[in-house]
Amino acid sequence: MKSPSFTTEHAVATVCPLDCPDGCSLEATVQDGRVVSIDGSHVNPVTDGYICAKVRRFPERVYGPDRLTFPAIRTGAKGLASFARVSWEEALGTIAERLIEARDTHGGESILPYSYGGSNGMLTQDTSDATLFRRLGASRLARTVCAAPTGTANLMMYGKMPSVTYRDFAEARLIIVWGANPSSSGIHLVPHIREAQRRGATLVVLDPRTTPLARQADIHLAVRPGTDLPVALSIHRYLFEEGHADQAFLDAHARGAERLRERAREWTFERAAAEADVPVDALRRVAELYATTRPALVRCGYGQERNRNGGSASMAILALPAVGGKFGERGGGYMMSNSASWGITNTWIGADEPATRIVNMNLLGRALLDSAPPIRMLFVYNSNPAATTPDQRRVLRGLERDDLFTVVFDQVMTDTARYADVLLPNTTFLEGYDLVKSYGPWTMGLGRPVIEPIGESRSNAEVFGALLELTGLLEESDPRGELEEMLHVLGRLPGTTGDDVRECGAATAPFDGRPIQFRDVFPRTPDQKIDLYPEVLAREAAAGLYVYQPDPATQEFPLALISPASEKTISSTLAEIPRPAVRLLMHPEDAAQRGIADGDEVRVFNALGEVRCNAGLGRWIRRGTVSLPKGLWRKHTANGYTGTALVPDTLTDVGGGACFNDARVQVAKAGGPEGPPLHRHSIPGRSERRVFRPA
Ligand code: SF4
Repeated sequence: MKSPSFTTEHAVATVCPLDCPDGCSLEATVQDGRVVSIDGSHVNPVTDGYICAKVRRFPERVYGPDRLTFPAIRTGAKGLASFARVSWEEALGTIAERLIEARDTHGGESILPYSYGGSNGMLTQDTSDATLFRRLGASRLARTVCAAPTGTANLMMYGKMPSVTYRDFAEARLIIVWGANPSSSGIHLVPHIREAQRRGATLVVLDPRTTPLARQADIHLAVRPGTDLPVALSIHRYLFEEGHADQAFLDAHARGAERLRERAREWTFERAAAEADVPVDALRRVAELYATTRPALVRCGYGQERNRNGGSASMAILALPAVGGKFGERGGGYMMSNSASWGITNTWIGADEPATRIVNMNLLGRALLDSAPPIRMLFVYNSNPAATTPDQRRVLRGLERDDLFTVVFDQVMTDTARYADVLLPNTTFLEGYDLVKSYGPWTMGLGRPVIEPIGESRSNAEVFGALLELTGLLEESDPRGELEEMLHVLGRLPGTTGDDVRECGAATAPFDGRPIQFRDVFPRTPDQKIDLYPEVLAREAAAGLYVYQPDPATQEFPLALISPASEKTISSTLAEIPRPAVRLLMHPEDAAQRGIADGDEVRVFNALGEVRCNAGLGRWIRRGTVSLPKGLWRKHTANGYTGTALVPDTLTDVGGGACFNDARVQVAKAGGPEGPPLHRHSIPGRSERRVFRPA
């Protein structure tokens, strides 16, 4: 007879801290101490009870074969992921010793902390980690791999004024989605756009691909990557020259309109359409609609920022509601990141920022290979630069340096972790506390532990707190451990925000999280005016502000390679989870010109490197553009390189952003004439697995 089995099951409310605009409220189901499912809850009205497929699969990360569960030290060549298990005491002791030695022998700037949005939680970045590195006098990292040009534009033009949030999209009569694909990132925006359409709104999408939303749009402009600036300027030209600019609004609330008008003057519809390779009538129609429709809303995404013109393009898009007079009513204005809407500054960091050198994260390869004084110690957490940073081959050469001591603190064996000297296992968001402020909707929620930490994994607060202690840098007033860290941060949030989170698990944003621009909220610039031509950015932009820099394509490398977010990963997070084979997407006519059929193995190459994978053909990508998914890991391609191997480490005109979409490539059927030689250093083979030896 079968004996009866008893299971205990309960649900835990938490929030998603991953780098996505939505900040979902979650309900995790736990059975016998294991997470068995995750779904959206209704605590955050924007989540509305559903979440993306990516986070539904998060338990596969928690319990998967790539999960790091104990500290380890390297035993083989860098990149081969050969490690031996050690105790936390030994791992942290070694790191603390190296930190002190680097600081005392070579100066604090020889240490480079490297982190980005592996977690967007407020406890997992810029808390005790920042305290440690500031007290060490380490080099400072400019976190520029994403949102730097748009963030700079939004800051300098509007002082990061809170923007329109999802729920007000339904009020708009015209929605322009520019450089964003909410079907992959920020999925909770989609129903609000659909609702607006049901109520009769017109939808315009600008994207080189026919995304799901573009298919539903009234007008889709499949612009050539990097040409958003002339397209936006041609709309400005129309507004100014045809009497549609709101001069009274500009006089009262803006500066620099005349300079913008001057820069827009040369961009006729004909010229902009030719540059962007879109139908001139469609472009003119978009401008006419924008001039004559209210409320009109622009969703400014990130696709337009990833090229040499990215800062000016984002500025020109953000300037549209000012010139067109679209503020002051629900459903009108612009939507951008709302990360700064709470007005929170990191006052909880236990040390002032030192005046040490700043390293742009997009130039990691150069920083590791060429900087003076040299970087001797690299500490990577919440980030996977071997996969995500431009000029991948240069980054890998830097990581291979014998005299570089690298610490990687992560949840799974990433491409970067394979190069670690010391590897530390990190808890996931299901295993600890966090505070999450979303950057699409205006919400904040408390992340709670759902399960016990897996294996020996530890939280950021525990690890950086221990390193503060071991380096002798811990001070009496520093919080100890994750819970104290959380209370420390909550106590420093403005107004009643901290109390609300403590008591209710979530904070209520002002104006019910639905501010109307220029009625409820205003620019946070010193004079509360919009700066349409910030002098500081004009000095930064080498070619000039709003000045178009032409396409970098050559006869040899004529195709634009883009790497947009997919529905499989959040940047490179969750890329360890099995997925269908990765394909280079290309237009059938581009493929036919090269004798390539659907499914063929191809070489995608330029002077920087080569990627080998299979081709997938489709008309939903424009001619002259090819696409690989963002966030691939090296195991996903046949030769161990990803799209970042083809991306130059040039920077955007303002903001120091990455120019992912400035990669220009050629594609050939594999087995055809040879391309440039591969740089075959320590490419992890697909069958190669990491090796852990007992201590
Ligand atoms: S990744 Fe975005 S959509 Fe998915 S659960 Fe997290 S916040 Fe929600």
